[in-house]
Amino acid sequence: MENAAAEITLATKLQFLPGVGLDRSKRFQKLGLRTVRDLLFLFPRDYELPAPPASVTKLREGVPASLVGTITDAEIVSRTPGRSVFGAIVENDTGAVRILFFNQPFRADQLTFDRQVMISGEPKLNGLRWEFVHPKVTFLDEADNDGSPPRPRILPIYPLTDGVKQADLRRLTRDLLPPIVATLTEVMPDRLRSLAAESLRVAGIKLAGALPPIDTALQQIHHPDDEQSLLGARSRFVFQELLVMQLALAMRRRKLTTDLQAPPLPSSGIVEARILKRFSFDLTGDQKVTIAEVAADMQRQFPMNRLLQGDVGSGKTVVAIYAMMLAVANEHQAVLMAPTEVLARQHYQTLRQTLADSRVRIGLLCGSLGASERRDVLQRTASGEIDLLVGTQALLSDSVNFAKLGLCVIDEQHKFGVGQRVALRSGGVDPHYLVMSATPIPRSVAMTLFGDVELSTLKEKPPGRGTVNTYLSHDGWRDRWWAFVSQQLDEGRQAFVVAPRVDAGETDSDDTEDIASVETIFAELSNGPLAKYKVGLLHGRMPNDEKQSIMQQFASGDLQVLVSTTVIEVGIDVPNATVMTILGAQRFGLAQLHQLRGRVSRGTHAGHVCVFTDGPQSPEENERLKVFEKTNDGFELAEADFRMRGPGDMLGRKQSGLPPMRIADLTEDVQVLAVAREIAQAMIDDDPELAAEDLTELHGQVMRRYGKRLELGDAS
Ligand code: ADP
Ligand code: MG
Repeated sequence: MENAAAEITLATKLQFLPGVGLDRSKRFQKLGLRTVRDLLFLFPRDYELPAPPASVTKLREGVPASLVGTITDAEIVSRTPGRSVFGAIVENDTGAVRILFFNQPFRADQLTFDRQVMISGEPKLNGLRWEFVHPKVTFLDEADNDGSPPRPRILPIYPLTDGVKQADLRRLTRDLLPPIVATLTEVMPDRLRSLAAESLRVAGIKLAGALPPIDTALQQIHHPDDEQSLLGARSRFVFQELLVMQLALAMRRRKLTTDLQAPPLPSSGIVEARILKRFSFDLTGDQKVTIAEVAADMQRQFPMNRLLQGDVGSGKTVVAIYAMMLAVANEHQAVLMAPTEVLARQHYQTLRQTLADSRVRIGLLCGSLGASERRDVLQRTASGEIDLLVGTQALLSDSVNFAKLGLCVIDEQHKFGVGQRVALRSGGVDPHYLVMSATPIPRSVAMTLFGDVELSTLKEKPPGRGTVNTYLSHDGWRDRWWAFVSQQLDEGRQAFVVAPRVDAGETDSDDTEDIASVETIFAELSNGPLAKYKVGLLHGRMPNDEKQSIMQQFASGDLQVLVSTTVIEVGIDVPNATVMTILGAQRFGLAQLHQLRGRVSRGTHAGHVCVFTDGPQSPEENERLKVFEKTNDGFELAEADFRMRGPGDMLGRKQSGLPPMRIADLTEDVQVLAVAREIAQAMIDDDPELAAEDLTELHGQVMRRYGKRLELGDAS
């Protein structure tokens, strides 16, 4: 049996620690703590900061305050059992206060004459004297372990479970740390810690000196000397955790480039000019940059894996067309997949227009095709007769075979769900992938979930875009709003009305009565405020040809108003539509609202969006709608959404395959994440297997934590 008094190491079981024992060690197990290592790497979730001491003259009734002083008088005022009262006077240069404890006679033994204390609590004025009842007391005359002058300390706050007290954990970590820290192995060599600190400072983190070595850092993360040391220690562990993750992702990016084979599809001046001639406008700066990135990716012999994010209307399709033309110019096929049939057809039309009178042969594959039409498309795809195939998820069917697929473009990828990789394979080589999304991914998610993907961003909008005004409706606004809509229609514009459900009978929750239904709305509007105008109805349950015909009529201006569910959400391009009414808006997420709004900012006229809610809203729903009204920047909205919902929603889906973070907070520590990513990439570029002698420990940590999950193989 282990001798508790002998040597305590990281591996020592908690039950063998003095003062713990078997019973209490079981409670620790509920927190996942079995060994000394578990305990010391359980990082505090927060800290209790000592309030800066005030002076007696500045005390205010009921406002929490701390005072430092000397006990100048102490006595038990009443000894009545069950009603004993102990009182003492704490005095300093600025005055004296009384402290009182009821039924705690033991206080008389601690709070004795002449002791130095700091008290914290809520002062009350009793006559002319300030009183603190049951204040928190810190003794300042007990020298610190290291013999430094006494001072109030920052205290760790640990996650707790039944039967484990804050005081237990504080005592254990305080006692265990000094002997243990000396035995720890450093994972990050000096050079790495200095480099990291330098970069973190550039990123705006106010570190003094290098990141602390493991012994100091572990001591300071639990029992910091001051806030600066705490910042240093926390930065070190956050950086280390994120660095380990980013090293793993960088190793994986590298591995993908060596394991997979794609056809090189290079561009040239002539090809480029021929493609660009197809557009009737000049590309935006961002489009040019992205196209250069895409061209550079596609000429390599491993697959491009690029995510193109750009707010609605930023012109992502141009980039897609460019990439597809590049594939065709290199005698390969390209496929473009969209989440809805409406959008797939729209892309098909756009491609046909853009490539009219060229030799590029374009096909369309979606669910509503007739059997013979479908057979024909499949056959021509397999024989290589079709160069560009546009379609919906129908493209994923087993019966779709390409003769020579070189590129796969996925539009509105957020509609397909995070992490979904599309498997379209053709003849042994892997196609290049271009994935497009109008829902910008928060930076931290892009650097983690999509950590092995290259990122391009279109921030700049094509010139001549109207602005969009967003209004949150107020009581009694309906009449005024419909009057405004009518006025816009009279000026020749068109309008969308969006509602969340198809019909009032559909139930998927317990409060369906309030749900605005497109069918009711359609009836109300076409018989009421918009009776003068041509109003159409569109929803997902209509037969496809009917949907097509309605969309067509709206696009051509035959319909002035389109009452619709969110089928119109993705990608629909009708520049003359400038007014949108969103009903039941509390049911939509921020990203979805923003997508909808994107439908009315596509022409040169200013867009107007009015948001109506039905029924009472929760404070979160309210908050969301306010943010939506305030900001029109998709990136800002995505970050706000991420902050409001927390990373759990996006990262917690477990599709990421990434383990949870122990100390880093992906919503807060984005700067550190960016620094870790940059350093990790440089390290892997320089030393792909982390073979340097002083990186052995770090390499081991990467493999233990991520090796299996990211299929990094056995790199040892
Ligand atoms: P999204 O990024 O939302 O998919 P689209 O690619 O549908 O945006 O582009 C929106 C509209 O802007 C289209 O009508 C497209 O023709 C037009 N457009 C794209 N790029 C430019 C540009 N550089 N200059 C002018 N118009 C452009
Ligand atoms: Mg689009």
